[in-house]
Amino acid sequence: MTLIRPDLDTLPAYVPGRTVPGAIKLASNEVAEPPHPVVLEAIARAAAGGNRYPDLGVVELTDRLAEVHDLAPERIAVGCGSVTLCQQLVQISCLGPGDEVLFAWRSFEAYPIVTRIGGAEVRTVGLDDGFRHDLDAMAAAITDRTRLVFVCSPNNPTGPAVRREEFVQFLRTVPADVLVALDEAYAEYVTDPDAVHGRSLLDEHPNLVVLRTFSKAYRLAGLRVGYALASAGIAAALRKVAPPFGVNSLAQAGAIAALEHREEILAGCADVVAERDRVAAALRDLGFTVPDNQANFVWLPLGDRAAEFATHCSERKVIVRGFQPDGVRVTVSTPQENDLLLDVASSFPDQAG
Ligand SMILES: *Cc1c(COP(=O)(O)O)cnc(C)c1O
Repeated sequence: MTLIRPDLDTLPAYVPGRTVPGAIKLASNEVAEPPHPVVLEAIARAAAGGNRYPDLGVVELTDRLAEVHDLAPERIAVGCGSVTLCQQLVQISCLGPGDEVLFAWRSFEAYPIVTRIGGAEVRTVGLDDGFRHDLDAMAAAITDRTRLVFVCSPNNPTGPAVRREEFVQFLRTVPADVLVALDEAYAEYVTDPDAVHGRSLLDEHPNLVVLRTFSKAYRLAGLRVGYALASAGIAAALRKVAPPFGVNSLAQAGAIAALEHREEILAGCADVVAERDRVAAALRDLGFTVPDNQANFVWLPLGDRAAEFATHCSERKVIVRGFQPDGVRVTVSTPQENDLLLDVASSFPDQAG
């Protein structure tokens, strides 16, 4: 017997984006600008009631999300970030060893962690040559042990979005008793007209779950709010396994205010998209390979030079996210910060390498 379950020893540790004094942080896909002033006011008002428990049912925020997405409130589950909802998805679908969770690799680093916390087994399918999901191969990898499939679109960290047509085709092949989670953390940045939008597929596919977050385009990463859109049955199950009172009152109030002002807040995404395309083009001019990207970052498939590039940047006070031995993910930020990144990248030796 051991005090702690021994499989936790082999769990991959989450590597947080580093903060270095005086450096610019392009490592966690955050937005550089603080939350909208109206959101800050709502948070301050909520803080004054901090002696009370938050609304356990997250009723008002859920109702607002229901309006925004034109979906019954019973079909929405709010969580403390969509990462927590990923963990809840494993909890509601997997009983333990033998059950498998399938996802592309490389994809969101939280998927293997939440899978193994849930006692389930990881199954991965490699991305294709364009760093895209290979949905045919993923469909072929589903077995009678598969309980849950994560599809990340746009894919973190490589960038491409899944196309609507290929995703619909994929859904047709997935057995009805396998959950499919479409993680749309970067949906607000998608400009490809052929990209999938999960909401429109929910009614036809009762095993589909769409994950969204306030952490990226809404600029509320520190508040920890995300949500799932799904069938009423899935949403109810997600609520059952949620940490009690997990979505705190500041988070609820901030997210409600952000939704009220969402047009103004999301207008900022257009600037990020313009910068994304500028940064990608400039990096290609420098000799880097940069795949298509539909989110607020770019992927540099530097292979085993990933760590070297990340160190080169951090020594020059630009923090990026290296995933040795695959590549480096760089968050697209303000024009000034992006220019610094480009400047630092231009002095990386043999970048076309
Ligand atoms: C950033 C991100 C999330 C959001 O996580 P939160 O817990 O909502 O902050 C979810 N999925 C992916 C793929 C992400 O990159």
